[in-house]
Amino acid sequence: MNIDIALIRGDGIGPEISEATLEVLRALEQKFRLQLNIIEVEAGDRCLAKNGRALPEETVEIIRKSDVCLKAPVGKSAAEVIVKLRQMLNLYGNVRPTISMPYVNCLRDDIDFVIVRENTEGLYKGYEFDVEDGAAAIRVITKKASSRIAEYAFRMAESRNKMKKVIAVHKANVMKKTCGVFLRSCYDVAKKYSGVEFSDMLVDAAAMNLIRQPQTFDVILTTNMFGDILSDEAAQLTGGLGLAASGNIGDEMAIFEPVHGSAPDIVGKEKSNPLSMILSAKMMFEWLATRGSQVSEVSRSINESVKHVLASGKTTPDLGGSLSTEEMGKEIARQIFS
Ligand code: ATP
Repeated sequence: MNIDIALIRGDGIGPEISEATLEVLRALEQKFRLQLNIIEVEAGDRCLAKNGRALPEETVEIIRKSDVCLKAPVGKSAAEVIVKLRQMLNLYGNVRPTISMPYVNCLRDDIDFVIVRENTEGLYKGYEFDVEDGAAAIRVITKKASSRIAEYAFRMAESRNKMKKVIAVHKANVMKKTCGVFLRSCYDVAKKYSGVEFSDMLVDAAAMNLIRQPQTFDVILTTNMFGDILSDEAAQLTGGLGLAASGNIGDEMAIFEPVHGSAPDIVGKEKSNPLSMILSAKMMFEWLATRGSQVSEVSRSINESVKHVLASGKTTPDLGGSLSTEEMGKEIARQIFS
């Protein structure tokens, strides 16, 4: 089977975690007789310095023509790269699973929820302007985008088949208009899903409850910036950003990437954990499987291999071990064959 994957190596620790992930993809190719055509495309800070643009048109064109895109973090130009790509390619759903992993220092061992975040509007729409003595931003929330992401979240709650519970997270008591539109849209969509329990929660309460009782969440449905912030908090419940993967999903295209940024504090030290990107690749194969590719076994193989390596105590420094980024990639690749 042939799969065209556009790869953005990104900035900071991006290139090193990409290399470790490629090691794993090569192992999967051999084991499952796949042909993964990795098409490298440029974007981010280094691309900006070299070409004068953080997101060249050629990059967008190649991503459009590929089956899927795998992306490492980019640095300071993230707003010009991933935020733009989400809007240009209409990748309206940002999906960030949070799952307790065995042998990882998690807050509890029964955490299993997913944050479904609206990805194209809200405060990240980019409408910022100067005003006298400061600046202002416009928060855009539409019924169309809110209903679309709510539909996605309810379908996900059904397909996960766990608690079948969606909680809409908002701040409608203060942002009455924008969060009001979001919340009303969620309640309207909820009527169609009688088999899914629905409630809502203020974002400050959600931030607290994620620490107090994370095991009670199943699907968290929220707006762009709230989702961005809560996902970093969520990652910390289950081992930190080194394990946190995500997908930006549209109807026709998807981009998978680690939750974290370019981590300039550890770049070049071979300390970065590539599992964030390897688990993003796992999500990528899961998504490809929903579109007809026979790759469910591939995502399962990544998952099992990651669990096995973690169980053997071989980890990068963020999880208490001493493996380098490259060694971690090689360990997972080796495990795929066993
Ligand atoms: P950026 O400005 O690009 O968002 P940042 O350093 O502000 O970068 P993150 O890159 O998200 O934000 O990193 C936050 C912290 O988590 C840093 O201390 C970083 O070293 C650590 N971190 C992030 N990703 C990883 C990883 N894959 N492995 C180990 N530590 C990581």
